[in-house]
Amino acid sequence: MPYRIEYSANNRAACKGAKPCKGTKIKKGEMRLGTLVEIQGNQSFAYRHYGCITSQVIRNIKEKDGITDPVDLDGFEELIPADQAKLRRAFAEGHVAEEDIPDSARVKDDPESVEDADQKEAAEAVLPPSSASAESPTKKKRG
Ligand SMILES: [Zn+2]
Repeated sequence: MPYRIEYSANNRAACKGAKPCKGTKIKKGEMRLGTLVEIQGNQSFAYRHYGCITSQVIRNIKEKDGITDPVDLDGFEELIPADQAKLRRAFAEGHVAEEDIPDSARVKDDPESVEDADQKEAAEAVLPPSSASAESPTKKKRG
């Protein structure tokens, strides 16, 4: 089955959803949808936040995968009932609920916040390389 719904086991996976969320980390315990993709012959899952499931994705699951009821999704039975209900509703309505869309996926129409991010990145780029190794007093064992 090329799709899997589950709770993230770690903080490592980056969301493969649409911008602006794309690339943000999916935190441990957050519900996410895995899509099986093939990269250079290797199969692996690309994950996105539950809230980053677009109506297009739901359509793909229904039409290309033939899963019209989320109960047929891999992992569905391991979800808590509240999340199963969420998913059912999303499938019935064709999109996830507005309140389930993470802040990181919301389009910010404030141009200043984008600028801030750029400046922050620039500031980080000019930071001198870590000087921690320059003079670290070696701890000597006593006794
Ligand atoms: Zn996301």
